Amino acid sequence: MTAHDYTLIAASQSPDDALNEVRHLVDGVWIDSADGATFERQSPAHGTLVSRIAKGGAAETEAAIAAARKAFDAGLWSDLSGKDRATILLKVADMIDENRGRIARLEVLESGKPISQAEGEIEGAADLWRYAASLARTLHGDSHNTLGKDMLGVVLKEPIGVVSIICPWNFPFLIVSQKLPYALAAGCTAVVKPSELTPSTTAILGELLIEAGIPAGVVNIVQGFGDPVGSIMTTHEDVDMVSFTGSTAVGKAIEKATADTLKKVSSELGGKNPQVLFPDADLDSAIDAIVFGIYFNAGECCNSGSRIIVHEDIAEEVTRRVVELSREVPFGDPLNPDTKVGAIIHQSHFDKISSYVEDAVAAGAKVEIGGAPLSVDGMDGAFFAPTVVSNLTPDMPIAREEVFGPVLSVLTFKTMDQALDLANGASYGLSAGVWSENIHTCLEFSRRVQAGTVWTNTWMDGYPEMPFGGVKESGQGRELGRYGLEEFLEVKTVQMRIGRTRANWI
Ligand code: NAD
Repeated sequence: MTAHDYTLIAASQSPDDALNEVRHLVDGVWIDSADGATFERQSPAHGTLVSRIAKGGAAETEAAIAAARKAFDAGLWSDLSGKDRATILLKVADMIDENRGRIARLEVLESGKPISQAEGEIEGAADLWRYAASLARTLHGDSHNTLGKDMLGVVLKEPIGVVSIICPWNFPFLIVSQKLPYALAAGCTAVVKPSELTPSTTAILGELLIEAGIPAGVVNIVQGFGDPVGSIMTTHEDVDMVSFTGSTAVGKAIEKATADTLKKVSSELGGKNPQVLFPDADLDSAIDAIVFGIYFNAGECCNSGSRIIVHEDIAEEVTRRVVELSREVPFGDPLNPDTKVGAIIHQSHFDKISSYVEDAVAAGAKVEIGGAPLSVDGMDGAFFAPTVVSNLTPDMPIAREEVFGPVLSVLTFKTMDQALDLANGASYGLSAGVWSENIHTCLEFSRRVQAGTVWTNTWMDGYPEMPFGGVKESGQGRELGRYGLEEFLEVKTVQMRIGRTRANWI
């Protein structure tokens, strides 16, 4: 395969941004690590040094948890009215908009994603803060006025307390914004740990929160790795809940780590999300959605549409057209606004993607396009070619595991039952899609597929109002929507006797 088989965007500039120094935010103060340890982050697309980051240890993590605990127990945030909490969340939203360019650029330099996409994510994040502000004002419990003349029942919704928020690298600013404003709307305090690969934009969020007037200690940020920072955040007795997004392997480790202190855990984990195409599908729309579904964020996306399950009558045409359209997707310099797909996050992840393709080929799979590194003029980073793999059996790892790269697996079916067996055959259950012009086909599929989100004749739409999360090994709990707020709330039952109406027991 040669370069002209793809659409490539050569380097347009060599970023020479000033080195970004990142520290921890603890109790309203920016601090270095007690032992002075730091680590660095290079641009995965350009190879240039982007950030030097304080490397968190036990001292910073424990101080951050203590600050969050103290702020919660003092009611610094939970005692504020919903209106006052909403006012601050709205200010943060406005400041995110004002800082969009700066946040998006750092997001590109640390993650390798394209600038136009990063800008869209930051705009979307501001919308999440606004939506959460509306929840802060409308948060309420229930009353039960039907328990009898002498009894009134009230269900109070209370903030769960101190929340550890642990985030991945693939949508750094968006995912912290799917968690933190909802936790704050509920009245919780938080310790946040961004991924070690994408630390900087969460630190900018910390700056904005301080400027917006959030009381010290309500939001703390500790930079660093799963060990020791994440590990302490999930085992410390002063933490009441863990909200985690990341891999299923780490999600399972966190479930075990939290068992001794019985913390609530909400987890958003991996996916192997199928798009199922019936013969009556609108193929023009479906093919575009398949290409979007697999190459968006270089396939490094929990919602990646990484498998298509195509009716055998149309499988050949669909595969051919997906391959043709794959050649038109602009891969390359993420700082160029025309680029749609940037660099892979780091070399070892690139190697993992390659090995999935190599193992599939060794087992008899056919690479229809791609499967190899892309060489982009003027760029040092690791770019993986748009890849379509067919002639698969459902038991092959590439067909059932999360590759997390721009690699599409093609499987075929004859009947609805077979399509559902394939769709439900993976251990994941994050999202699924169905393409058919027949509403009955779409409804039957939607009801029978095991997934937290189902898209019919579309892919990857999302709204702050619509809950998001997985079943099976894709996680527990929901983000976004009212359900996203409920995750951070405890329910307290209050039963109030009216008058001296209770007959004595003795
Ligand atoms: P990861 O699990 O390697 O890391 C996620 C976070 O957990 C990082 O901040 C990391 O430092 C931390 N961590 C690592 N070990 C830990 C431990 N033992 N205890 C506590 N924290 C620990 O995931 P990643 O590679 O950053 O992200 C990619 C994964 O995230 C993919 O599997 C993807 O599907 C998933 N993801 C899911 C969603 C969703 O909403 N379902 C969204 C985005 C990403």
